[in-house]
Amino acid sequence: TRSTRPKRLLRAVQKNATRGDPLSVISAIDHFCRHSEWAMNVGDEKGSILDSVVSELNPNTSLELGTYCGYSTVRIARLLPPGARLITLEFNPDYAAVARQVISWAGVQDKVELVEGPSGDLIPQMKERFGVETFDFVFLDHWKDRYLPDTNLLEECGLLRKGAVLLADNVICPGTPEYLAYIRNSPRYESRYFQSHLEYTKVEDGLEKSVFLG
Ligand code: SAM
Ligand code: MG
Repeated sequence: TRSTRPKRLLRAVQKNATRGDPLSVISAIDHFCRHSEWAMNVGDEKGSILDSVVSELNPNTSLELGTYCGYSTVRIARLLPPGARLITLEFNPDYAAVARQVISWAGVQDKVELVEGPSGDLIPQMKERFGVETFDFVFLDHWKDRYLPDTNLLEECGLLRKGAVLLADNVICPGTPEYLAYIRNSPRYESRYFQSHLEYTKVEDGLEKSVFLG
């Protein structure tokens, strides 16, 4: 089969990371992306901000929008308390196939449900099909024009509990202006920007953390 960037990234994991050791998987991917091929993972620098938000919240039920190769999935899943679940959505089947292997290599597959399909179709099915009551934590990192419509869907479907945290990547680069305007001006959220850099570069980018007030 044709070599693609995700497949080369997976090979780097299989060659350089220890099975069952999520940190070694994370390091192998960061090393591959810094020294061989850039890829759109949240990366190590923003990843440490993601880690602190997850650790502080200790979420029981989490949603990730945009799995790609499973880098941020592994980052989040390794920090979850026993019994917690992370649902991650990816509509590209080739990326999902790689992500499943990366997630298993890291040994966090028991905490993760990777669902293939478009977020706009899957979010309305979270309660009935996936048995979710509400999410404590949502990581938004899919296509940037979907951040706002999918946030509105999560609200309409009653999927955000009071105190739920939305963490949005790439709010500066490539940028999510409609989402930022909405989340910063809505009285239903308390929102704060964490300045950082686009993964594996020195270009400014950051994460927006927004607490749903109910
Ligand atoms: N979160 C990943 C990480 O940090 O390792 C990176 C995710 S990448 C930036 C965005 C991914 O979202 C791509 O793999 C793309 O195929 C997927 N995607 C984009 N729009 C989507 C949608 N509406 N539903 C499901 N997946 C989507
Ligand atoms: Mg991103």
